[in-house]
This record gives sequence, C-alpha cells and structure tokens, in this order.
Amino acid sequence: MLVSVWFLLCGFMLIYEIGVSSGASSAMKNTIGSYHLIRQAKPESRWKVPGVREFDPNWVVRFCLPGEQKRVTARLYPICPRCLASEGNPAEVRSNCSAEGCQRDVRRWADLELAVYAKALREGDMKRKQEWLAPKRYASISEVIDVYLQRGPSDRRQRVNMLSAIYEQVTGREIERAKWEELSQKMLMTWAEMRQEAGRRGWLGLGAGKNMPPGGWAVLRGLAAERRLKAVDEVTVAAWNTTIQTYLVSARSIFGEKSRLKVLRDLSLPELGGFMDPLPVELPCPEGHQEIPDAVMAEVERRLPSLRAEDVQLYAFFRVCEETGVRPGTLRALDTEALAVLSADEMSFWKARMAADWKMPVDELCDFGGLLDIPAKKGGHAVKTPVSAEVAGLLRGLAGTSGHLFGCKHKTAALELHERLNVWLRGCGVEGNHVAYLLRHRKAQALRRFGGKSAVAVGLGHTSEAMAERYSREDRVVPAVFTRAAG
Ligand SMILES: [Zn+2]
Repeated sequence: MLVSVWFLLCGFMLIYEIGVSSGASSAMKNTIGSYHLIRQAKPESRWKVPGVREFDPNWVVRFCLPGEQKRVTARLYPICPRCLASEGNPAEVRSNCSAEGCQRDVRRWADLELAVYAKALREGDMKRKQEWLAPKRYASISEVIDVYLQRGPSDRRQRVNMLSAIYEQVTGREIERAKWEELSQKMLMTWAEMRQEAGRRGWLGLGAGKNMPPGGWAVLRGLAAERRLKAVDEVTVAAWNTTIQTYLVSARSIFGEKSRLKVLRDLSLPELGGFMDPLPVELPCPEGHQEIPDAVMAEVERRLPSLRAEDVQLYAFFRVCEETGVRPGTLRALDTEALAVLSADEMSFWKARMAADWKMPVDELCDFGGLLDIPAKKGGHAVKTPVSAEVAGLLRGLAGTSGHLFGCKHKTAALELHERLNVWLRGCGVEGNHVAYLLRHRKAQALRRFGGKSAVAVGLGHTSEAMAERYSREDRVVPAVFTRAAG
C-alpha cells in the first residue's frame, strides 16, 4: 500500500530500505522508510581547521519517510578519497566501499536513525517524530562550558578540566571545538584503553599524569588509531582505574540531570545517551586505606588560622570532621539537638570512658566541650563522640536560629558547605575523589595508634574489625587529631 508511494518519492535513487516488523500480530514486514546517500559537493568549513577529518566532504543522507523528507549532513562520515574521486554516483558504482567512516559506516548510522524514527512512528510518539524530523538547535559545547563556569558548583573548574582532559587526550583537540556527536561511549572506551596503557607504561604514577613524557598522549592516540591498544583490562586492580572513574563522574556531572535543571536550564542540550551510560566494563579499583600525606597535612595546618578568620562556618565543619572522624555527609545533616553540652562532671566521665574505649591515657585527651550523638549509618552502630571545648563553642555560635548544627538554612546550603570543604582541602593539596572523607581515615589512624583495631571500630561505629582495617594502617604514626590544643 504505502510502500509504492515511497518508491515514487525516492524513486530511482533508492539505495537502501529498512524493514520493520509490524509487531506481534503477524510476521509481515512493513517498510517504514528509506534513505539514500549523496556526495557532498564541497566541505562545510574545511578552511577553518585544515586537515581535520570532520570537516572533509561528508556524506549527506536523504531520508524518505511517509509524507516527509529529511536531509542530514552526516558530519562524522567523511567520503573516502576513492569515493570522492569516483566518476558517477559513488553510492551506486562503489556501493561496496568499506573504507573507514565511508559508505559502510554511514549506512550503519542511517539505519539506526531510521530505526529511531520507525520506533517513534510505531509507538505513536508524535513529539519524538517531530523532533527527529526537525531537530532542536542545541547549544554548542563551548557555550555550555561558558555558562557552566559562571554558574556551576564551586568545583566547576575542576569538573570542566576533567572533561577537557578526556576529550583532548583522545582527540588531541580542545573541548571548546568538540561536537556533540563526538561525546560517545566509544570515545570513553578508547580513553579508558589509553589510560590503562599509559598506566602499564608507568606514565601515570599512581593514577594522575605525573610521569607523562612529552607527546605521550599523541603516541597513545596513534596506537588507538591503528587499533593496537589492548582492550580494557577488567581484571587487574589499578590505581589509574580509580582516576578513570573520578574523571568520568566529574565530566558527566556537567551534563547530568541536576546540572541541566539548575545550572544550564536556559540551554538546549542533546541527550548524550552513550556518553552518560555506565561503561560496559569493570574497572577494578584498589580499596582500603587512603591517607593525606604529611606535607599536605602541614599545609592544611598552615592555612587553618586564616580559614578560621575568613569562614568560621567552614572552619567549624573541618574541625568537627577532623575531631570526630564522622562521615561528612552524616555531619552535614545534623541539627543542633545532636550536640549535648557537657558539665564538668560529665566531661570527666566521658574522658574516662573514651580513654578506656580508645585504650589511651586520659591526659592525652584534650578537654571535651560537648558530645555529639551520631545516628547509625550504613549498617554501623550509633556513636557518641566528644568534641573539644573550642569546637563546641564554635557550634553554639553558629547554630543561630536555623536549627542546623552548622547554621545552614536549608539542605542545599549544607551540601554546599560540604563541597566548600572539598574545594578548600584540594586547595591545600589534598588529592582524591572525596577529600573531606579522608579526614575520617585520619581519625581512624589516630585511634589505631592507641587502641588498635578495636578502638577504631568503637570510635567510628564500625561493626567489624575488618572494616576498621580498611580505615587505618599499622605502620604509620600520626598525631592524635582529637588532642589538637584548643584555641
Ligand atoms: Zn568510500
């Protein structure tokens, strides 16, 4: 029936048809549409970036659909030199060309496009069908980055840096010139292969790019282009896998749902399906103890007085994280009722009790000013943990009228406080994904120095010594953080 109409529409140029099953009712095949390839006469913007493949003459695809036609420049599919030079229509005389990116690949892409349309049609989804026929004008990636850098979260610069690192390492080009189609899962897989190869070559140190030789990424890009990189290693536990995960989380967050609704809300962005999907591979990361190096901790100490002067709220949050070792995410959710102020008698009781739990002499402990009641989290126990007199005083000053332990007016403000601590710690040189969380590891280490694993378990609310093991290490001694002199 309708089939004949499309034959008339596309007529003699018809090169390819897609058969779409009409569903469960019968085995009959129903042709939804077709397309044919047209050789682009001249490149769209070759003079801007000479030699860059994306700007070579590309295939143009004309789709023929029920009552509609659509013409698309397939920007990622350059016409190979032989098809470009061929006399007559290369889609006819060289229809078996299998050069990379040429006819075989553009057909694969067009098949998928047509299938998307067919699916919308079959499901009666007129909105998606319209969008397919007349795609929205999306903001460019560089526009998105501009807006993100103005309005994004406090660590926006770092997130953008990670996105551009991924893109530049794979393509050798700047993210500002990237096209949406390039942000794909395929690109991320290539990047993961490149990073793992760099790691195996000792080019990454423990994960970051510290030992990268000049031109190292170009070497890896060359290997990738020649298909000579090993497939992603899903077995070997490696620190660079942690870095890969960190980069992916940060880079994707720029285009995530929250960012689209809040930061980028006036811009139109494509879906980015494959780029946002989890990679189809395991990247085994080392688990266990992480610590802040002594030199970095010294820098933290050096900057604390000015932090206290400039941002007493952030200072107090740091101190409570450090003194208690409680997860920052738990602390930021506490209200003022979690803090009990201690009388002199109560303080002696709790000092004796903590000294016993932590297996350390009472006189190693500073004076307690209050006791925080920490609810049980993640299958652990509830914990009562003391804070110094100085910190208790700061918290009483901050609480104000909001009812929040750190004086935050709403949940978002509390989240921002946590983010600000991460930013501040990174500024001091602390590296890693959840840097504020490292203060918990630090506390565990201090406890272990005195009371061994059982003290860590008591102090952090762990139910097992095995978990305590993950949080501390025996072979290093650090100062007991909860005995920092007050004031
Ligand atoms: Zn070709």
